[in-house]
Amino acid sequence: MTGIEESIVERIDRLQAGGVIDMHFDLPMDLYEKREHRDVLKTEFLTEFEAGGISVVGAAIYIEDRYLPEAGLRVALDQIARLYAETATSERFAICKNYREIQAARETGKIAFLVTMEGVEPLGTDLNQLRVFYELGVRSIGLTHARTNAAGHGGVFAANGSSPEGLTPFGREVVHECEALGIIIDLAHINPAGFEEVLSITTKPLIVSHTNARRYYDIERNISDEQIRMIGERAGVIGVNCVLVSPTEEKSTLDHYVDHIEHVVNLIGIDSVGIGFDFFEFIYRQWPESRQKELAAKLTTPHFIPDLRNHSHARNLTRKLIERGFSDEQIEKILRGNWMRIFREWL
Ligand SMILES: [Zn+2]
Repeated sequence: MTGIEESIVERIDRLQAGGVIDMHFDLPMDLYEKREHRDVLKTEFLTEFEAGGISVVGAAIYIEDRYLPEAGLRVALDQIARLYAETATSERFAICKNYREIQAARETGKIAFLVTMEGVEPLGTDLNQLRVFYELGVRSIGLTHARTNAAGHGGVFAANGSSPEGLTPFGREVVHECEALGIIIDLAHINPAGFEEVLSITTKPLIVSHTNARRYYDIERNISDEQIRMIGERAGVIGVNCVLVSPTEEKSTLDHYVDHIEHVVNLIGIDSVGIGFDFFEFIYRQWPESRQKELAAKLTTPHFIPDLRNHSHARNLTRKLIERGFSDEQIEKILRGNWMRIFREWL
């Protein structure tokens, strides 16, 4: 012992220094909507990434209903194009396609983007497109959002009522091809039947990039204790989402966010939990009220956590984990170590 007590701020600094990995962020969609603007990443996101010590971001291609079906492929390609163009404007960013590149980016202090896909609508029913997106850098895929598509069915934002059907033959082909190519399979959003089927036809550790525990918010879009155990048995990782922490605004707090982390840890251990913040408020606030109402009618009204609203708030989470009694080793696994293990195993 040195006899010098480390202050909590110093401890947060030290834990943050290794970087924070967020496996779900709707960045490409926002860059696409702002395609007439330049330097959006630098002017609107970099400060928050830096303040939060963010080192790797799962940048999710997602196609809104209004572009489907006709423009799905084109908008997906444009989202990727904007991500590449914006990434090229600063030495601080890098798009990474494998574990070695992610490590190199982290070692040189860059913010690494891993391109992901939320819902395979851009593929249509053409498996060849999957290869194209792989070549463009897509390294994690969730088959569905809340909708039904050519691969399967999304989980509903209610305690029951999702389709009882699993994957379509195309969905199974996509899963097999992802496993063969080295595209991490993400079970966020898929309905319970699809969830089980993906597990039954794969062997690698699967992830749920951004979700919450049904124990605290009982909707089929979230995951049950049984599903959490299934991920644990496969040594997968569950990223805890900060938008669906509770059905009530009052309980949508940072403490309750940590309850979700703790719940996963209690069920399957510290090696299977990570972060998938799903910060979405910046997009939501840009919408007219009519679209916000449409979201509420179709899915749910999101409740944003006051002190966990954007990437600059990642430090608040680290502080809360310390306050809640997590050890340094546990916090490092939650913030980055578990996702890095998944990248090492898949990429
Ligand atoms: Zn999502």
